[in-house]
Amino acid sequence: MTRPADQETLEIIRNNWQQVCHDVAEACKQAGRDPTEVTIVGVAKYVDAALTAQLVAAGCTIIGENRPQVLWEKFDWFQQNGISMPRWHMIGHLQRNKVRRTLASVNMIQSVDSVRLAKELSDEAVRQNREVDFLVDVNLTQDATKTGIGREELATQASALSDLPNLRWCGLMAMSSLDADSATIANEFSEVRKLRDELQQSLVGKSDLRELSMGMSGDYREAIAQGATLVRIGTRLWNGIL
Ligand SMILES: *Cc1c(COP(=O)(O)O)cnc(C)c1O
Repeated sequence: MTRPADQETLEIIRNNWQQVCHDVAEACKQAGRDPTEVTIVGVAKYVDAALTAQLVAAGCTIIGENRPQVLWEKFDWFQQNGISMPRWHMIGHLQRNKVRRTLASVNMIQSVDSVRLAKELSDEAVRQNREVDFLVDVNLTQDATKTGIGREELATQASALSDLPNLRWCGLMAMSSLDADSATIANEFSEVRKLRDELQQSLVGKSDLRELSMGMSGDYREAIAQGATLVRIGTRLWNGIL
């Protein structure tokens, strides 16, 4: 059970949001980076639409959801209640039969974890006459429990991904290994960044892979130090709420 979306809850969420903004800016400074280079995606999968709206009211402009159906329901709820829309980012596995409805509500799909899904998204985006941003979910540790496209496949498919009609390939998304220590996490994120740099070199003039979506509540510092431009923060935003 979470709290009702009352005034007191809004105060808590405001404080959490400001704290997270402060901590992310601090991590940027530590890494010698300009805080404007890093955008916080508020991951709202733990709460309902009303609390998600409170996070938006607190100042969060991008909401991340990992389940397509929940994303649609929240999108509809915002629309029905006349609340100004945040940007919606899909960050979890997207089943092919959910492509059509998801495309109609999202600004970015961060979790493109197969070439086949990318092609489906492109076909549907053409049908809907929309342009949609996407990131490729990469799995560089060959961890079978993680989703994502591996290094070799990405190398051979990069050009095809870049050419897909109505889709704009904007970069990579990655998750660090569960229970890894800080040095291992930093190393994994560094590998993702290197891969992005290599891909970018091969796609000059075709795609602008400016985004690196890496880092969550527990490892955003390591991610920012390794070049993250999007950090996906959930748990820390809902302190005192969950
Ligand atoms: C839940 C989730 C997050 C947020 O994780 P926290 O540890 O709660 O900050 C980030 N990315 C993805 C893909 C998620 O599913």
